[in-house]
Amino acid sequence: MFTLINLPYASLEPVISDRTLSFHHGKHLNGYVNTLNGLVAGTPFEGKSLEEIITTAPAGPVFNNAGQILNHNLYFTQFAPDASPAEASPLLARILQQWGTLEAFQTDFEAKGVSLFGSGWVWLATKADGELCILQCPGADNPVAHGLRPLLTFDVWEHAYYLDHQNLRAAHLKALWPIVNWKVVEERYNK
Ligand code: MN
Repeated sequence: MFTLINLPYASLEPVISDRTLSFHHGKHLNGYVNTLNGLVAGTPFEGKSLEEIITTAPAGPVFNNAGQILNHNLYFTQFAPDASPAEASPLLARILQQWGTLEAFQTDFEAKGVSLFGSGWVWLATKADGELCILQCPGADNPVAHGLRPLLTFDVWEHAYYLDHQNLRAAHLKALWPIVNWKVVEERYNK
């Protein structure tokens, strides 16, 4: 049985409103959890991990709901209301090597989120050799499905921002940086 993760904070105001957080976690993510539990019951996917399902399920509802759970689990646990700026680390060194500055990386990441057509996710992911890449993933797609390790993600489904910013996806993405918990992102990179 998959279960809804607990959020490691009570609020992300004012960056993400409590109303958005409540719907996003309590309704959208909870819905994916309940749907996947129903879909896998009595199938070979029952008892498998999200990663195992994502790397073996064909395109369709099982992949989509497992993907959405994994994606949201990574998304919600990468934020903190009192997050510190990125500090010197192997991850930051690699970002600077590939993009020149953290701001240049952030601009590239936001642009790829804004230009992703329709619903999906923009990801910072890493290859086995440590090289970083930004992925535009439609729907429930994610780096795990492509043999890459996910580090950071912004949700560009409208449910992530419509209550707070209506159609202004770019404004939402730009506003997220102060709550990115770089310690969590660095831990994902150092694993
Ligand atoms: Mn979402």
